[in-house]
Amino acid sequence: MERDCEVKSSKFKRICVFCGSSQGKKTSYQEAATELGKVLVSRNIDLVYGGGSIGLMGLVSQAVHDGGRHVMGLILEYFLCVQLTGVTVGEVKAVSGMHQRKAEMARHSDAFIALPGGYGTLEELLEVITWAQLGIHDKPVGLLNVDGYYNSLLSFIDKAVEEGFISPNARYIIVSAPTAKELVKKLEEYEARHERVASKLSWEMEQLGYSHNYDISR
Ligand code: AMP
Repeated sequence: MERDCEVKSSKFKRICVFCGSSQGKKTSYQEAATELGKVLVSRNIDLVYGGGSIGLMGLVSQAVHDGGRHVMGLILEYFLCVQLTGVTVGEVKAVSGMHQRKAEMARHSDAFIALPGGYGTLEELLEVITWAQLGIHDKPVGLLNVDGYYNSLLSFIDKAVEEGFISPNARYIIVSAPTAKELVKKLEEYEARHERVASKLSWEMEQLGYSHNYDISR
């Protein structure tokens, strides 16, 4: 059995974290962002995120950077110009649009974690869940349910299963836990069991106005 003091490398090289561009009202949200960063460092996992230093995004990236792991921030060229996001620690990759940004975040990561956040976080989270449901990737998706922040979302999703809009296998895609340590452990144990209706489908960025195809399943 793994002892607490042991540093054990994870099967994940890089995890993409979605989270609020605000810090939230409770200190527990901020503490959870920093704690997630520390857990990633302790498992030798690098960070991919939306870039910048604002909100929980700034806290998680700073913790990973301070711990000596690699941080990759994917920032819209527009944000770079008008400096809306603050300084990004680590590597900055400029992208020209939101769709390219999400595809790049997914392509560079082995798993996804959502901390508490708002519309942006929910949109990014639901998109990678939808891609998993379609079999575009089989990377684990975790919800860090700090202080029950996501309880109502999880209840809603259970309601959608009950009402026949989400299949039980697709419900299984979302892994949740109250602490970063438990969540990373669950994500490592996760095995995809959803129906693969579009297995290994390439994300056709050309259709979205980009000149490259992104296969995010690797
Ligand atoms: P929200 O949850 O609405 O605060 O949005 C946070 C998510 O949307 C992050 O994961 C980012 O990818 C993206 N986002 C929203 N606002 C910004 C911003 N000012 N700078 C960088 N990314 C942002």
